[in-house]
Amino acid sequence: MLTIIVKLTNECNLSCSYCYRDTNDKGAISIVNIVRLIKQIDEIGKDEVTMIWHGGEPTMLGADYFSSVFSAQNKLKTKFTNKMQTNLVSIPNRLLDLLIQEGVDLGISIDIPLIKHDKNRLLLSGEGSVGRVVKNLNKIRERNVPLCVVSVVSDKDIAADDVIDFIEGFCPDSISLNADFNATEIVINSNLVFDLYSYKLSSDCSTYIREVDTLISMFSPVGRKGFCHYQSDFCGKDYLSVDVNGNIYICCDKLIGDTDFLIGNMFSDDLKTILDSDRYKSTLQKLQSQRAKCTEGCSISKSCNGGCICDNKSIKKNEICSQRVESVERIRNDFLERS
Ligand code: SF4
Ligand code: SF4
Ligand code: SF4
Repeated sequence: MLTIIVKLTNECNLSCSYCYRDTNDKGAISIVNIVRLIKQIDEIGKDEVTMIWHGGEPTMLGADYFSSVFSAQNKLKTKFTNKMQTNLVSIPNRLLDLLIQEGVDLGISIDIPLIKHDKNRLLLSGEGSVGRVVKNLNKIRERNVPLCVVSVVSDKDIAADDVIDFIEGFCPDSISLNADFNATEIVINSNLVFDLYSYKLSSDCSTYIREVDTLISMFSPVGRKGFCHYQSDFCGKDYLSVDVNGNIYICCDKLIGDTDFLIGNMFSDDLKTILDSDRYKSTLQKLQSQRAKCTEGCSISKSCNGGCICDNKSIKKNEICSQRVESVERIRNDFLERS
């Protein structure tokens, strides 16, 4: 299934210490252009497409904007599923009503422990944002909105207990830990992963812990393979991202801005032409051969399948791989002993 992540705006109501967006670019994609993109997506003829609305902060575009988005989608043949990634600093009732009515899944960015959130995720006034976020978290929970948390880990001091306390306090449906792009050390190490794995197996925790559950599923005969957290197959194939200037990249938003992965622009070409282009095909081929080279001689190649393209470009690749090998081998051995 095709998934398209769209950075609708670079504007944000937070100023996080690790933010990587280009603050010089204050633009947002106009409703005219987003409706044009939606029509182009329909024209490529997929039955189902998932769109992930990202920013900056997408809620700042307001209920009227998203109402136009959903009504454009609902007139077309393609079945659209929508997700939104929000910092939850502000979620006006009219927008929340609309998102619930349209079945939009919300991914909420909250850093763990909350004391770190308050330090790293600042309002434009310079105050911490945790009070507002927790208030809005309770508001969406009262409306039975599933709670899918994405937490940026910016230093290696995070302990499994910090994550477990959060899980037990807020009962999220899922939690994903993303390493801070700017971190100079490995912040999600194999000890953290193994401790969370041990917690998951020894408790009645029903929260999907991405760093653990993806690993466990690798050991099932029909489970996923690979360290792309979005797809188990070759990630470039069915995952695209679009920035506020209409540039289209393969893969998720991690690669926005990297010209090696730029395949076209939605304002100057239509999506079908871009996906039929030699540039798109040669970028996919290049990635496939990089992936094949990466797995050669690696002890966990069958599970990892070449990892995440973004990690593979990182100067920390060797460290990332050694932590990954350790995590996979520790969990695989323990899992086999238990079964
Ligand atoms: S919420 Fe996201 S876009 Fe906004 S400042 Fe924080 S990291 Fe940047
Ligand atoms: S070398 Fe690293 S990225 Fe490549 S398959 Fe092995 S662990 Fe994965
Ligand atoms: S950049 Fe990494 S996480 Fe993102 S889709 Fe590609 S492989 Fe997956």
